[in-house]
Amino acid sequence: MNAVASPSSDNQFVIAKFGGTSVADYHAMNKSADVVLANENVRIVVLSASAGITNLLVALAEGCEIDKRDELLQQVRDIQYSIVDHLDNANIIREEIDRLLDNIARLADAASLATSAALTDELVSHGELMSTLLFVELLRQRNANSEWLDIRRVMKTNDQFGRAEPDLIQLSALAKEHIQPKLANAIVITQGFIGQDNKGRTTTLGRGGSDYTAALLGESLNLNRVDIWTDVPGIYTTDPRVVPSAQRIDQIAFNEAAEMATFGAKILHPATLLPAVRAGIPVFVGSSKAPEAGGTLVCDETQNPPQFRALTLRRKQTLLTLHSLKMLHARGFLAEIFTILSRHHISVDLITTSEVSIALTLDTTGSTNTNGSLLTNALMTELSALCRVEVEENLALVAIIGNSLSQVNGLGKQIFGALESFNIRMISYGASTHNICLLVPGDDAEEIVRTLHKNLFE
Ligand code: ASP
Ligand code: MG
Repeated sequence: MNAVASPSSDNQFVIAKFGGTSVADYHAMNKSADVVLANENVRIVVLSASAGITNLLVALAEGCEIDKRDELLQQVRDIQYSIVDHLDNANIIREEIDRLLDNIARLADAASLATSAALTDELVSHGELMSTLLFVELLRQRNANSEWLDIRRVMKTNDQFGRAEPDLIQLSALAKEHIQPKLANAIVITQGFIGQDNKGRTTTLGRGGSDYTAALLGESLNLNRVDIWTDVPGIYTTDPRVVPSAQRIDQIAFNEAAEMATFGAKILHPATLLPAVRAGIPVFVGSSKAPEAGGTLVCDETQNPPQFRALTLRRKQTLLTLHSLKMLHARGFLAEIFTILSRHHISVDLITTSEVSIALTLDTTGSTNTNGSLLTNALMTELSALCRVEVEENLALVAIIGNSLSQVNGLGKQIFGALESFNIRMISYGASTHNICLLVPGDDAEEIVRTLHKNLFE
């Protein structure tokens, strides 16, 4: 693939990120190595854990009985050994992997006594540590000069375990100090997803965070392009697993792709495009299994952006409805609610209000702390002191992403006409001309997406 010129970057180097399925086994890793070696400008490689590993590690971090623990550990070992066995230096590498597996076992024991978010992140980080170790060896075997780097040396974050926020100033300085000088002579292989707080504790950036790592490094080092290699050849009008007739989008603007990611398109971690937009670095998305199939380029602008661009689906949405008669002609009520939510680190997605009630949705996906619901007792107590609170779960968010939607006549009929046989719990439209969001019963969501795709895209 040819490099895409980007006027704002002074560096022709490219960063390539490979997701879990691209490093799932020896065969997949080799395909990914092909992709790296096919472009001599690829000098930094960011990896996810091998597919399945992070989920197993999260389960271990939740604490479990000894038998279950052994079974999960065995599964982790099997996945990684199946790769080790193919390497020339299998014995040496197996020792290194064993050392990490011992750590995992020790941390899992600790978790069975008492779980904690810090412990979870420490444990879960081993997935990326293992995949990168294996990949460095595989590249060495193919005579490439590659170097393993512990990303925690540069990815400094706050201590919000499970969803840590990177410190961009430190990151930029440390990346220039520790990574930049290596790029002329070696391919640097490092971990996505993990970071470190200022006390030296391991943190993670949230599930799927490796894309974000890659984009942040691209920004810090002012690289020419960020390549995200996954198991689908690009970004589609909707998830092809839900709608087989979904179409590939060849070029898409940052803002459109960002909307898609925010609203649940699995293709990119929602925060990924922020650094790319800030630095004006194009992001390419393709399949490491079929690089020749091309992919999607996400860049500043595209020609003739279509009215309807994509449909996204996000499951596991929680709807919180707050009622209070005090809201009638009152001031400051919303401010109070949002202050409470902010204190509890709750990020709100959709909001609708009527005179005495507010409905808001919370995103409960994305954190490694799957066992802790966002709605803690402390939060509910504070909110209940102010108003009546109702919680509804098992909802899904379907977003219609497009351009200048506010200028389309008859939009409502097009959308709601198609959905006449479905129940829609909440609608959010008007704040952005790029999306219309529907909150729908979780069980109907896929059918709704199929129906909308047929009516708006086919
Ligand atoms: N391994 C992590 C996860 O599964 C991070 C990533 O894949 O981006 O969430
Ligand atoms: Mg992933």
